[in-house]
Amino acid sequence: MKIIKCRDLGFNCNFMATGKASEIDDVKQKMLDHITEKHLSEKNMSKEDLEELTSRIDIMLSRGCGCGAL
Ligand SMILES: [Zn+2]
Repeated sequence: MKIIKCRDLGFNCNFMATGKASEIDDVKQKMLDHITEKHLSEKNMSKEDLEELTSRIDIMLSRGCGCGAL
């Protein structure tokens, strides 16, 4: 089970993307879709910002249980 929280990426938001460990790409895509839809204009994020977030998502999802601080 993989979980990634919007909050862990620095947003004040309760959104979480979840999925099976075998579906990491799916989880990542869900998170990126959410960020693009909800936070891109809100934060006035650049393409570079989005790329940085993408790599942080990659790192988080590649860790053991994917539950971050827990
Ligand atoms: Zn969010």
